[in-house]
Amino acid sequence: MIVLNGKDLAKKIQNKIKEDVELLKKASITPGLAVIMIGDDPASQVYVKKKAEACKEAGIYSVVHEMPENIKEETIINTIKLMNENQNINGILVQLPLPPHINQTKILEAIDPKKDVDGFHPYNMGRLCLDLDSFVPCTPLGVMKIFEEYGIDVKGKDVCIVGASNIVGKPMAALLLNEFATVDICHIYTKDLKEHTKRADIIIVAVGKAGLITEDMVKDEAIVIDIGINRLENGKLAGDVDYDNVAHKCSHITPVPGGVGPMTIAMLLSNTIKATKLKTSE
Ligand code: NAD
Repeated sequence: MIVLNGKDLAKKIQNKIKEDVELLKKASITPGLAVIMIGDDPASQVYVKKKAEACKEAGIYSVVHEMPENIKEETIINTIKLMNENQNINGILVQLPLPPHINQTKILEAIDPKKDVDGFHPYNMGRLCLDLDSFVPCTPLGVMKIFEEYGIDVKGKDVCIVGASNIVGKPMAALLLNEFATVDICHIYTKDLKEHTKRADIIIVAVGKAGLITEDMVKDEAIVIDIGINRLENGKLAGDVDYDNVAHKCSHITPVPGGVGPMTIAMLLSNTIKATKLKTSE
């Protein structure tokens, strides 16, 4: 069984990004990322802090716009418009989830698609589905990089994705389909989840429910990618897979923490560099 080490791979990618940034700086270009954070959700605060730290480490300029929970939609959109116009900002991301009174679609659509480093704008999502060059959401992109690094060819494989959100499950499905995998997407209303996971060569789970994927749901020698992040009562982090009992059956598995999580941040930096290069080539 091979443990897919996203932490080390992310480090390797971030070192390469650091070199790219140094080269850009020699040409008097400093990549810039703006993060908009609404409210004080503790998990979002941790993610935003990690993203800012990673930018600093790579030499990318970053700015965090913190806004109160009761902020007006219009104020967020005006801030996005300013960032769209700002020549020092190449990438913009709005940390999700948003408070219930804010229309998420309106907010994401306000971002200039060329600065949409999270890849959530309908323009980029549409291009991804058409297998055209686009900004690809960071978490699924990170999973594809793990496959690439470990020589896992998804072509013709039966892949079961558990979780069908716009930010993880759906773009993951599009990326895999573009690489000619046979994709099965499950969600909360799937009748018999085990019947789907049991057949899969590759299981990718992004639900947010610790212990959802148990030993009996996984076929021998399957590849298991665990995207879920759950805080257990004992304070530890866990994924959606019952790792201790599932790992021995797998040919490859990602741990939590140290699997997909660090790759998400590395891909955000990578997308920010992509946006910077796109602008300089205009
Ligand atoms: P979400 O709540 O938007 O979507 C969850 C999906 O799971 C939905 O499609 C829902 O139908 C499905 N689901 C819920 N219960 C289910 C069940 N019992 N059986 C099958 N499907 C079920 O969540 P999200 O934003 O996509 O995030 C999912 C998980 O991934 C969370 O734990 C989140 O913290 C984690 N996440 C991790 C990273 C990372 O970098 N590792 C990035 C994004 C999200």
